[in-house]
Formats: sequence, C-alpha cells, structure tokens
Amino acid sequence: MSFSIYTTTISELHKMFVEKQISVSDAIAEYRKQAEKINPEIHAYLELFDTTDMVVYAQELIDTGRATLLTGIPIAVKDNILISGHIASASSKMLENHTASYDATIIASLKQQGVVFMGRTNMDEFAMGSSTENSAYGPTKNPLDVTRVPGGSSGGSAAALASHTALLALGTDTGGSIRQPASFCGLVGLMPTYGTVSRYGAIAMGSSLDQIGPFAKSVSEAKLLWETLVSHDAHDNSSLPDKDRNWLEPKKNYTLGVPKSFISGEGVSESVKNNFTEVLEKAKQAGHTIVEIDVPLIEYSLPVYYIIMPAEVSTNLARFDGVRYGLRISGDTPDHTMSLSRGAGFGPETKRRIMLGTYVLSHGYHDAYYQKAINVRNAIKDACAKVFEKVDYIITPTTPSGAFRFGEKSENPVEMYLSDLFTVPANIAGIPALSLPSGYDEHHMPLGVQLMGSRFSEKALFDCAESLEKVLHYERIPTTLS
Ligand code: GLN
Repeated sequence: MSFSIYTTTISELHKMFVEKQISVSDAIAEYRKQAEKINPEIHAYLELFDTTDMVVYAQELIDTGRATLLTGIPIAVKDNILISGHIASASSKMLENHTASYDATIIASLKQQGVVFMGRTNMDEFAMGSSTENSAYGPTKNPLDVTRVPGGSSGGSAAALASHTALLALGTDTGGSIRQPASFCGLVGLMPTYGTVSRYGAIAMGSSLDQIGPFAKSVSEAKLLWETLVSHDAHDNSSLPDKDRNWLEPKKNYTLGVPKSFISGEGVSESVKNNFTEVLEKAKQAGHTIVEIDVPLIEYSLPVYYIIMPAEVSTNLARFDGVRYGLRISGDTPDHTMSLSRGAGFGPETKRRIMLGTYVLSHGYHDAYYQKAINVRNAIKDACAKVFEKVDYIITPTTPSGAFRFGEKSENPVEMYLSDLFTVPANIAGIPALSLPSGYDEHHMPLGVQLMGSRFSEKALFDCAESLEKVLHYERIPTTLS
C-alpha cells in the first residue's frame, strides 16, 4: 500500500503507522506540504501550526502500542474552538490577538489520543454567514472551483479537508455551518444532537443552537470523530448526563419522510430538485421506504432562527466591551472606549445581528418577537417529535443550490440567509442532522442530501447514511489545484 494524501483513508493510514510503513512525521509532512501549496490561493487556514510536539507524542503512542484510530491523524480546527496557547480569533478583528488560555474539552480529548492539529481555519466572523465572505481576514475559496464560495461559516475547515490538507476537520453548526459547507465541498458533515457534544471552549454564537461536529470524507470517518466528541462534560451546563443519552440502535431498513411542500418552494434550484428526485429513487433501491410527510410549521424555522439567533448573538457578544478582553481602543470615557472598541472590532454582519438581537429583546418588542419565536420554536420541536413517531429520518436537500459565486449573495443579506432554509430546522429542534454528497449541480459543483433524525439517533443515522453513500457513488473530484 502506498501513501497518498488524496486517497489514503484514516484506517489505512492507521494500519501503515502501526505496521511501521510510514512515520507520523513523514505523513504529516505531506499534508503540511499540501497546506502550504494551496493556502496562498484557497486561504483555508488563518494559521498553520508547528506540529513537532504533537507528532512526537503521536509516534510515542504508536510505538508503545497505545494508539487509537485517531492517533497521528491530521485535523483542521475551526478558529472558534480553543486550543491552549494558540490564537482563537473567530475570524474577528475583535480577537485578533486573543490567545486561548485553555483547551476546549473536545480538544483536550483529541490531544490525549495524539491527533495532530494542522492549523486554525478561516470562518465567517463569529460564525455568522454562509460563505466565509464575512471573515475579517478575507474569504476562503472553494477548492473545487476557486470562483465559488466553500460555504460557511465553517468554510475554512471544509476547504482544508476538500483540498486534502487533513483527514478530518472540526466545525461548529448554529444554523447549518457544518452541513452547508460540507455540501458545497463534497464532504460529509454532522450536526450532533444538542447537548451531546461539549461546547466548553467553543466561542459562543447562539448558545441554544450551537453544536460542534465533524467534517470527513466519508460517513464512517465522520462517525469515528463523532465517537470521540460525544461525552458528558461537567464544564458545560447544557451537556446531557450519560444516563439520559438513549442512543437509537441501527436497523435494517429505514423509513424516510419527505416534507414535500417544504422542499418544492421557489428558491430551490432545478438541479437540486432533480438530484433530490434521483436520491429518493436510489434510496428506494437500497431498501428504504419513502413516504410523504407534513411537518407543521417547519417553514417558519428560518424566520424563527433569525429572531432567536441574533438575540443570543447580541447577549453573547456583549462581553466584548474593550475592558475585559479582546480589542481595546481607549476613549475619553468608559462608554466612549466601548463604542470605539466595538465599532472597530466587529464587522458589518456582526453589527447587523447585534442590532437585530438587541431590538427583538428590547422592552416592548420582546413579547412581539422573541417570545413569539420561542413559542413557535417549541411548536416546531413538538411537530418534529410527532413526525419521528412515523418515520426514522426526514430527508431533504442540504442546500437550495450548489456553491454560489463570490459576491452573488453578499450584497443581499436576506438572499444569503435563505441558503440556510433546509439546515436551520434541525438547530431549532435540537435534533441531529447529517449531510452527505449526493451528486452535482449544473456547474459540476457538489450537492448534498440531508438526513434529520430524532434526538440521539446518530448511530442509526450514520448507518442509514452509509447505506445511501454506497448507492450515491459520489466521485471525489480532484481540486482545481491538485
Ligand atoms: N449561515 C447561518 C448564519 O449565518 C448559520 C451559521 C452557523 O451555523 N454558524 O447564521
């Protein structure tokens, strides 16, 4: 077996490590070389790390027979997940020089296994966006077509993986930020059940919606990373105790529900609709049952999201006041310091959402907007729970279109928000959702299909996704750069 950054899988590389066919150092050097080659154009990474110590530790684990499947495996980490001693800027000027003083819980457990962090990846500022165009440090390009966006907000992580600079990547998903870039870059992405993966050490966007999750080149590799991510963490007060995690076990065939009226709306491109029809055909051939369903109120997920999310954003970002940490520009009075610091530190989209959030929470509007959105959110949760009494998974396209061009939606925020149409419901309901490659659009850019399941259905979700992966035959197209 010979090693290639393009084709070698995690289990193959593990085997090569254990059988001493390749050292961790030599393997990581190859990924690093690729990262240095693509990054000037793609801008997937904000920073590439010195991996020397991590490589030595991984090799030691292998040599002493203590390796796990993840030991020595290169991973790209979104810039809003804290790694002690490294800058975590959330792609914001506000945190340009902010060095993390501790490890996020998931980072600590990956470190223990000797995973090699390749670098921190570009993203939309504070994870707000669908294209990485909102990064304070310039956008990331889609490695499959550099005139197009990689998706967002975890666009850097997706681009890093799709350009073969790592074997796995970490993202965060508040309204689709793992699944949408996964779909745009031909990858698998999972947003886990809310409360199952620790958020401790992830820079918060919308705390009731955020989850950390994996990007991978295949369903089984996404599962591998997920298995390490899911554990109870006393540091995170929304982390569910182990006893409450009633994982659903896989079964032979699954019933997939299609919310027809939701997905046949206007903004959905023809190629997405056609691809989705093919996916359903193939799912049937794979032995699954397809039924039409109605999920009451699901079409209100997006408006509900764009009330609850900014409300939480405005509260979470209140801590950046020019006093405690982050950018500080001194003014004549404390108020002046605050306004200068926040004025210079936040980009336009972040400011827009802070204003929107402050508005919906303000006295007099709270009941009309925020409380109403919470009520509808609860109704959507109930509606989903009811649906899962009848079907195993809700199946939809992941995005209404394939990867769009730079500038195509950035002038019109509402257009941009509409790209979250299919991904947002899962965050609203707190349920897991997975995107896997399903084919191509009219520009030969990847498309994805999404499965949403009931809470704790991940194991079965991976199983179902794997059965679809087999019949969908997505050809990993070479990047324009490789
Ligand atoms: N694109 C969505 C937004 O702009 C989702 C972001 C995310 O999941 N972090 O809010």
